[in-house]
Amino acid sequence: MAQLDEKSVVESVNKDLFIGGKWRPAASGRRFQVEDPSTREVLAEMADATPSDSIDALAAADAAQSGWARTPARTRGEIIRRAFELMVSKSEELALLMTLEMGKPIAESRGEVAYAAEFFRWFAEEAVRISGDYYFSPDGTTRVMTVKQPVGPSYLITPWNFPLAMGTRKIGPALAAGCTVIVKPAELTPLCMAALMTILEEAGLPAGVVNMISTTDPAGVTQPLLADRRLRKLSFTGSTEVGRLLMSQASHGLLRLSMELGGNAPLIVFEDADLDKAVSGAVFAKMRNMGEACTSANRIFVQRSILPEFSARLAETMAGLTVGRGTEADVQVGPLIEQAAVDKVSNLLDDAQSRGARIVTGGKSLSIGGYFYEPTVVVDVDPSWRIANEEIFGPIASVYGFEDEDQVIKLANNTEYGLVAYVFTENLNRALRVTEGLETGMIGLNQGLVSNAAAPFGGVKSSGFGREGGFEGINEFLYLKYVAINHRG
Ligand code: NAD
Repeated sequence: MAQLDEKSVVESVNKDLFIGGKWRPAASGRRFQVEDPSTREVLAEMADATPSDSIDALAAADAAQSGWARTPARTRGEIIRRAFELMVSKSEELALLMTLEMGKPIAESRGEVAYAAEFFRWFAEEAVRISGDYYFSPDGTTRVMTVKQPVGPSYLITPWNFPLAMGTRKIGPALAAGCTVIVKPAELTPLCMAALMTILEEAGLPAGVVNMISTTDPAGVTQPLLADRRLRKLSFTGSTEVGRLLMSQASHGLLRLSMELGGNAPLIVFEDADLDKAVSGAVFAKMRNMGEACTSANRIFVQRSILPEFSARLAETMAGLTVGRGTEADVQVGPLIEQAAVDKVSNLLDDAQSRGARIVTGGKSLSIGGYFYEPTVVVDVDPSWRIANEEIFGPIASVYGFEDEDQVIKLANNTEYGLVAYVFTENLNRALRVTEGLETGMIGLNQGLVSNAAAPFGGVKSSGFGREGGFEGINEFLYLKYVAINHRG
């Protein structure tokens, strides 16, 4: 494929709000700048929605709701399927756009576009499988009929770290279920979502079924929506702190909620693990997206007998990773998203170092234009320190030693979070005991990746509730209605 031109890919994106099937500027006329984190240069100016724009978007979603719910499931599925095909046909443009606004290496952006599109393919197929039930009450006097119906207009808030996949993972099941939506992308990465709106438009989605508001005032545009009775559902992916706040605001309207929040994933390597698999799995689980993932291996627990060898091999692999602008083909680690992310990573490392942790490789930010930070391995860390209890969200692998199974399960569970854990062992009995003992919504067993459109993604404890993807994902946007039928034949 011919080399794509960065400027024309950015220029091709509509920078307005998408409301009721029309592109329009914000009511205030204001715009905000979107930056390339690898150069700190301004890429584009996006419409900056105000509360009145978000209410317009809700009015459009509400007006389209009954028509979309009545649209046959096959027709809904075929439109979503067309959107999948369009995403695939435009995958190079989407991947470049993602690398430009978010920073991840182009190979990872291609991977995310494919993963994001897969949610549309999966939910296009699930749209026609919404079913109910019919049975007799025990005394024979009543028939019980159940039917699943769309919950109604849904508000979808997404983070910046996976600018497309976090969108399609919500939009796909919502549309398949028959819900209309308002999407609010993160202010750091709105361009991919705007490009996705054009794809949904081209796929033939009726006006008002999908609406998008980009804004630098997420709290201001969200509050009136959550207070409006026309809204029926909030699906949020982001930090636990904001999730808690939104849950309390959503209590007013008793909204249906899905919460995909932060994580503090343990990655556990037992002495009976296949070390090649464990090292490559740890590097992948840690370094995917520069470590800016809710699923990132935040605490790497290694059994003492193999700790020196594992740490040395991990450090060697991490030190060999190529850091640079994600558009360059051989780059494996891009920039962090903004200066605040670099500061946070540096602070956590300084704190650990001041208490006696040892840096084996890396440990510094890099002055090569953007928000770059070296892949880092730190050992002799204590699980009570900040670095073990906060999301690092950056390229620092923090390694802890442990003695035995019982101890590591306790250590792994000693966190408010419960999104994902990774376990490396070749012993089946141990694998079963440990996976059953871990308090997380997902587990990668001998692999450093769990994301899969066909699987239920989600957490427990302060990582939230609800599941995205898999057979479960569509149920987040459906409610169960029971009809009691009095029939004495
Ligand atoms: P964030 O909570 O700051 O922002 C997430 C989204 O919420 C953004 O769109 C933002 O504009 C919006 N937002 C912020 N304040 C708001 C408010 N008061 N009202 C309404 N909306 C508001 O999180 P982030 O920094 O964008 O993303 C990183 C976080 O997301 C991490 O904690 C990460 O673990 C989590 N995350 C979770 C998952 C998951 O599936 N569990 C996936 C990706 C990211």
